[in-house]
Amino acid sequence: MSTTIQQVLVPDSDGYQTVDVQIEGDSIVAIAPHLPPLGTLVDGSQKLLLPGFINAHTHSSEMWQRGLIAPLPLELWLAELYDACAGITPEHIYLSALGTAVETLLSGGTTVVDHLAIPPGQEVESVAAAVRAYREVGMRAFVGPLIQDSDLPASVPSGGIPRTIAPYHRTTESIVALMEQLVEQFHRPEEGIHIMVAPTGLQLCSDALIENCVELSDRHQLCRHTHLLETKAQQMLAQEKYGYSAVEHLKHLGFLGPRTSLAHCVWLTDDDIALMAATQSTAVHNPLSNLRLGSGIAPVLKLRQAGANVSFGCDGSASNDAQDMLEVIKIGSTLHTITEFDYRHWISPREAIQMASLGGAIGLGLADQLGTLEVGKKADLVLYDLTRLSLLPRTDPIGLLVLGRPTQAVERVWVQGKPVVEDGQVTTVDMAQLRQELWQQSQWETGPSAYRASMESHYRQVMGLKAG
Ligand SMILES: [Zn+2]
Repeated sequence: MSTTIQQVLVPDSDGYQTVDVQIEGDSIVAIAPHLPPLGTLVDGSQKLLLPGFINAHTHSSEMWQRGLIAPLPLELWLAELYDACAGITPEHIYLSALGTAVETLLSGGTTVVDHLAIPPGQEVESVAAAVRAYREVGMRAFVGPLIQDSDLPASVPSGGIPRTIAPYHRTTESIVALMEQLVEQFHRPEEGIHIMVAPTGLQLCSDALIENCVELSDRHQLCRHTHLLETKAQQMLAQEKYGYSAVEHLKHLGFLGPRTSLAHCVWLTDDDIALMAATQSTAVHNPLSNLRLGSGIAPVLKLRQAGANVSFGCDGSASNDAQDMLEVIKIGSTLHTITEFDYRHWISPREAIQMASLGGAIGLGLADQLGTLEVGKKADLVLYDLTRLSLLPRTDPIGLLVLGRPTQAVERVWVQGKPVVEDGQVTTVDMAQLRQELWQQSQWETGPSAYRASMESHYRQVMGLKAG
C-alpha cells in the first residue's frame, strides 16, 4: 500500500519547503521536491505536514468524570474521583479509550500513553477493553495499568499524627503476577500496542513493587512510567518516608533511565533536575492538569537547560478536562514566561512542536522510529488544513498552530501508514454510535463525595490550612 502526499509544506531547519512525501507500508520511504506519483495521491497544497504528537500521559477512563469534580488539590480530587468511578466496567473503559483516541487524533496526536485505571476484579478485562479500542481506532498506544499496593490516605503525609491506614486489597505478589500476565497477553510492539510498567507513584507503592516493575521492564524491554512529585504533599511525604527526595529514591530503586517517563515533575529540586538529565529520564509536562489541581508549575525551562528531555501530556480528562494536544502545547509552552525573566530561555512554537513529537518519542525509547519527518521513520503523520479561518492569514503556520486557537485544523492522519482521519473525520470509528453510547451510559451528576470528607480534616491539618 503506497501513498504520495503531493506538494505539501513541511518545516526545515529555518523555514519551510514544499515537497512530496511517499509512504510505503508503515514507513516514510521518500521525501523530495518531486516524486513519481505512486499509490493513493493526496493533494498537500495549502496544507502543513507534521509528525504526530505523543499524548505522553493520560488516564482514558477519566472521560466519564470530566467536568464533574470541583476545584480541589490532587489528594482530595482523587478521593472524589475514586468515589465517582466506582461501578465503572470494561465496556465503559472501551468507550472512553475510543473517545480519548479520537480527541487526541483530532488535535494532532498519533500515540497515546494511557495510564489506565483497572477496577478490582476486572483488571484483565479492562486492559483488554482499552487495547481493543486502540486497535479499532488504529492508534499507537502504550497502556500502563495503574498499579499500587497502598490505599489513597497513605498518599498524604502523616505529619506525625497517629493514624491507621487499612491494608490494600491486593498483595504486591499478586499485582506483579497480574503484570506478567498482561505483558504476555497484550504486549505487541510490532503491532503498535505496548504494555508499560506504570506504578501509580512512590506515594502509593512499596519499594518491592517498584523493584519488581524494574525487573519486569528489564526482562521484556518495557517502558517505565509513573507520577512523580506532582504535589507539595508528595514532596513532604518523600521526606517523611525516605528522608530525601523521591527522584533520588527512584534512582536507588533502578527506576530511572532512557525508557522512563515521569508525569508532572512539579516539585523538583535542582539536584533532582540534574539526576533526571544524568539518567536520561523524560519529564512529561501536564500543564493544564497542574493548573486545574493547583499542583504548581513544573520547572520545564530548568529541565531543558539541564539537558533533560521534556514531552507533553493531557493527563486524564477529569483534571484537564479534555484531550486537546494543541491546547496543552499552547499553555505548556507559554506558561513559563511568568517564572523566567530571561526570554532567551522561553519555548518557541517550533521547540514546542518538537517536544510534543520527538520529545514524546524519546521518552518511549522510539526516537529512531517516531517524532520527525524522515525517510525510514514510521508514517505517523498529521496533515493540517491551512485554509481554516483560525490558521489564516498566511504568516508562520507553526507559530499560528501553537499560539492560535486552531479549530478543526486536522484534515488527515496516518498511523503506521494507515489512514485513520480523512476530511477531518475519524474513519475507523462510528462517531454517531460513540456519541450515543456516551450519552446513554452517563447521567447528570453533582455533589461532593463521602470519601473526600473522610480525608479532608487530616489533609488540612498536615498542609497547614485552617481547620473547619
Ligand atoms: Zn496522571
